Amino acid sequence: MFTKILIANRGEIACRVIKTARRMGIRTVAVYSEADANARHVRLADEAVLLGPAAARESYLVADKIIEACQRTGAQAVHPGYGFLSENEEFAEALTQAGLVFIGPPASAIRAMGSKSEAKKLMGTAKVPLTPGYHGDDQRPTLLHAEAEKIGYPVLIKAAAGGGGKGMRLVEKSEDFPDALASCKREALSSFGDDHVLIEKYITKPRHVEIQVFADTLGNCVYLFERDCSVQRRHQKVLEEAPAPGMTEARRREMGEAAVAAAKAVGYVGAGTVEFIANQDGSFFFMEMNTRLQVEHPVTEMITGQDLVEWQLRVAAGQPLPLRQEQLEIRGHALEARIYAEDANKGFLPATGKLVRLVPPAESINVRVDTGVEEGDEITPFYDPMIAKLIVWDETRDGALARMRKALADYRVAGLTTNIDFLSRLVACPAFGKADLDTGLIERQKDFLFPAAQPVPRDALLVATVGELLWEQHAAKQAAQHSGDPFSPWHARDGWRMNLSAARTISFMDGETLVEARVRYLGERWEISLGGETTVASGRKLEGDRFAVELDDRRLIASVVAVDDKRTVFLQGSTYSLLRDDPLHRVDAGDSHGGGLTAPMPGKVVALLAQPGQKVEKGTPLLILEAMKMEHTITAPAAGTLKAFCYAAGEQVTDGAALVEFEGDA
Ligand code: ADP
Ligand code: ADP
Ligand code: MG
Repeated sequence: MFTKILIANRGEIACRVIKTARRMGIRTVAVYSEADANARHVRLADEAVLLGPAAARESYLVADKIIEACQRTGAQAVHPGYGFLSENEEFAEALTQAGLVFIGPPASAIRAMGSKSEAKKLMGTAKVPLTPGYHGDDQRPTLLHAEAEKIGYPVLIKAAAGGGGKGMRLVEKSEDFPDALASCKREALSSFGDDHVLIEKYITKPRHVEIQVFADTLGNCVYLFERDCSVQRRHQKVLEEAPAPGMTEARRREMGEAAVAAAKAVGYVGAGTVEFIANQDGSFFFMEMNTRLQVEHPVTEMITGQDLVEWQLRVAAGQPLPLRQEQLEIRGHALEARIYAEDANKGFLPATGKLVRLVPPAESINVRVDTGVEEGDEITPFYDPMIAKLIVWDETRDGALARMRKALADYRVAGLTTNIDFLSRLVACPAFGKADLDTGLIERQKDFLFPAAQPVPRDALLVATVGELLWEQHAAKQAAQHSGDPFSPWHARDGWRMNLSAARTISFMDGETLVEARVRYLGERWEISLGGETTVASGRKLEGDRFAVELDDRRLIASVVAVDDKRTVFLQGSTYSLLRDDPLHRVDAGDSHGGGLTAPMPGKVVALLAQPGQKVEKGTPLLILEAMKMEHTITAPAAGTLKAFCYAAGEQVTDGAALVEFEGDA
């Protein structure tokens, strides 16, 4: 076994690999970019090597620097995690040539599966069932269009080199094909450096069911059952589970054996996943093979009781697979939810910012949290905005669902927008509860999942008000301790000096609505009039931002996190956002991104879609911005004239940068 390995990755997966290595007595070397100098994976590793600037192209993706880091630290093997260099055959080869071990499959297997087109050709020969479609080399647009006609709409255009749900376009009718093809090729070229595409029949109401396989260098290959990853947005997984609801023993064996055949056909070694798209009747087709450890591998670990990273390390060191097929079994049910910094209500737009508060649910044998960040860390625009993976296990699916609901309710994050509320609704959604799964679930359930904004409930407003009052008291006490005169009336916060009747108003903005709480001081308590009702309240500050509140005859524990004028209230498993409205410092919130002509986040301009001087209608696409993982189309906010573009295609823009000069019609 190795005595020291290097992890060529960051975030939760780097931390996850370090954990197993440490348990096995293997020393770990982390690598990091300038943006990650204080990242959790750097803090956890035994030693760490700086690679370069924040941009992955200049740090995490530079193979030579990683090899050099191995040589400097004496690491014998490299775990690539997922993403970055994990499916890069040249990297795998370069490591071997430098006398280092790549903890993954041979370069030849990566190459064979690297192109979805080539993989499909190969799988056809290995008699693995394929999604109907065209995966040939001839890439003339007219030919591709003709192939789409032959397959019959709807079709899916896919980048052969694609991954992560990127480089895919659904085409419903013939006239949309040329534009979709151009846009797909553009994204494919910029994301994967290769604009080769394939076309597939778009399966309606499908499920995504994938098989975890494992092979060693001695010729053994097993499957560790399936994961259902049907719950997706933009072809990206949101919730994953194992086993797949409704799976029969016979089908499981059939899919498992097809996956093993796929792995054997390319001389596979290590951990891999064969992804299938399945019809509701259970028939299934090969989509692609991911030649690495996947994000969702923990659900498989939870139901099999195996540590897949340990398996990877053993296989890479030349040992046999720890178990044979007949020794593997499924126990219970596991669910995973991906906690992202993103705004589900704005088309899952990635968010960035500081994790001012980050309190995950308590971990146990039922609840596991895999994360790469801690409170105080930042989610930057440079990398994937995943905050954590929340994995739960129980004997049954219903039990696991209950655990997931509770764990999501216990999660407290403030400082940036997350998808936690969205995930809570998703797991509470009856269709998901009944396991009525397909890749269109989120779209189909959108009324349930994206309800119109509800007013913040009165209890939460009372809690926010008490929070302000307690915080003032706390701050006054601290000021008094430092001023040398703790009894000075100027430090009192009982309201007497605010005005003679000892009453004042504390106001908040709940979205567009002004909420006013009228507060009268009653010694140790307050009388709060809000929304036409009056409540007698008191409170006691606990540690940090938590406090105990009494509202008339009820007692609650709540927490308020304050960042500038933002207030995040955590109360009984729900999170509410308010703005403290200070009439003296009222800011004009009118025009931050209102015009829609500023970059909603840092990114790159990929295409200009109109001509300067052109008259446009409201909604006319003006340019395409690529930010983090997606293309965003910036459209005209009104009828008017496009005066000029502020950037050329290919240029980077910062958050809030003006993108176009636009003049609305008078
Ligand atoms: P990636 O490399 O981005 O993971 P995949 O080929 O695995 O691309 O597809 C990602 C997702 O897109 C699938 O999980 C599925 O939801 C959807 N998808 C892919 N192919 C089809 C298809 N032929 N019909 C319907 N949906 C598909
Ligand atoms: P302590 O000094 O008691 O240890 P901390 O400084 O750790 O307290 O935490 C104070 C917390 O109180 C901060 O995280 C802040 O977000 C929170 N807080 C709650 N309500 C308010 C408020 N109205 N104004 C300012 N901070 C507030
Ligand atoms: Mg895939």
